[in-house]
Amino acid sequence: KKRNPHEPEYLQAVEEVAETVVPFILSNEIYNGKQILTRMVEPERVLMFRVPWINDSGEIIVNRGYRIEMNSAIGPYKGGLRFHPTVNLSILKFLAFEQVYKNALTTLPMGGGKGGSDFDPKGKSDVEIMRFCQSFMSELFRHIGPNTDIPAGDIGVGSREIGYLFGMYKKLRNEFTGVLTGKGMSWGGSLIRPEATGYGTVYFAQSMLETRGDTLKGKTITVSGSGNVAQYACEKATQLGAKVVTLSDSSGYIYDAEGINEDKLAFVMNLKNNIRGRISEYVKEYPNATFFAGERPWGIKCDVAMPCATQNEVSGEDAKLLLSNGCYVISEGANMPSTPEAVHNFQAAKILYAPGKASNAGGVATSGLEMSQNSLRINWTRDEVDKRLKKIMADIHDSCTKYGKNENGYIDYVRGANIAGFVKVADAMLAHGVV
Ligand code: NDP
Repeated sequence: KKRNPHEPEYLQAVEEVAETVVPFILSNEIYNGKQILTRMVEPERVLMFRVPWINDSGEIIVNRGYRIEMNSAIGPYKGGLRFHPTVNLSILKFLAFEQVYKNALTTLPMGGGKGGSDFDPKGKSDVEIMRFCQSFMSELFRHIGPNTDIPAGDIGVGSREIGYLFGMYKKLRNEFTGVLTGKGMSWGGSLIRPEATGYGTVYFAQSMLETRGDTLKGKTITVSGSGNVAQYACEKATQLGAKVVTLSDSSGYIYDAEGINEDKLAFVMNLKNNIRGRISEYVKEYPNATFFAGERPWGIKCDVAMPCATQNEVSGEDAKLLLSNGCYVISEGANMPSTPEAVHNFQAAKILYAPGKASNAGGVATSGLEMSQNSLRINWTRDEVDKRLKKIMADIHDSCTKYGKNENGYIDYVRGANIAGFVKVADAMLAHGVV
């Protein structure tokens, strides 16, 4: 706290892990007294750099770029890039810290990192996005590489941005390598990568329900966000027989009691990915739905909630509202969407609650599969990748159960995920000595 006084999100993420991991360390001779958590909370390297670019009016704009290389004990740094005006050191350090644990849970050899910029892509022309991405990469390229640090997408960074970033990297390095994931299918991408985070979040919910002999069929689901993760969570949940009734963006949420079926989702995907419009336009197309400006969807009655927008979007009060309306499954698609108060409310109610570092790990896991395919110079089929994704999500569920199951049978997924991730990274750090 003394060293990072202006980093509330980072402190929140570390405290959440420390709550469960510190008692574990104290009761385990192998880890006790080795300062492993103290070492883990200090990033191996933090890069901050100027990103100057010229907008369509000919003005020079200066943004700040970042890459946090958090931990490389079990593999090269891996984690997304976020372009959003709220980006700062605190948010990226929290995301990088979470990423270390999440990547360890995937069973794949990936360390943790995160990066991005306070650049706001909203309202920018395609050419402005390209100029910004090129300027960003003209510094980042010297710090990353297929065996060192492999960035991917996150909020505000989708396949278009990855394309521009990759193009610049390739030009500067004069080499075609798997240095980024989330690439297009014709130039090294993996099938199922766009779908993976959302699908994985749904698969995880399914695994949790199985522990109570239940399935997603017939369940009502509230989803927040309407970007990459939300879209594919909605798609998979609908395919498995559930009814998704909400989606949102930063201007509010839409409620469609009839359910957002395949056709309606296709409308949302075109609206968000091509036209880049606002979610409120949904009600113009489907007048039976309602738009609630400036609100979040947690007051709508549901069985399952999937927060898929951003950090701290479910407050303690929102959690109480969800619980009082009968919600008993939370599978987080976003990173740290629930505040500490919300998490404590979910745990006290003993519902099925999965923290993002477990339930949204399908995205980075499939990025790991993209890296493997790039190294092997082959492409797996859609079925093959989906099968591997399902297996990885089931394995993450098993790891959470191994370390999180209480004597009374209740699975504390937060404790399970934190300890399972910690053990894997800590063992590697111990083996490497104090470096
Ligand atoms: P997108 O940029 O595709 O979509 C983000 C969505 O969340 C948009 O609907 C956006 O609305 C909304 N949103 C963003 N910031 C806010 C905010 N401050 N308040 C309200 N709504 C907001 O991003 P992704 O879908 O990729 O990411 C969503 C979450 O999932 C993030 O927490 C991300 O870290 C996490 N995640 C993503 C992975 C991936 O593979 N993409 C992997 C693992 C986690 P608007 O358009 O109005 O800004």
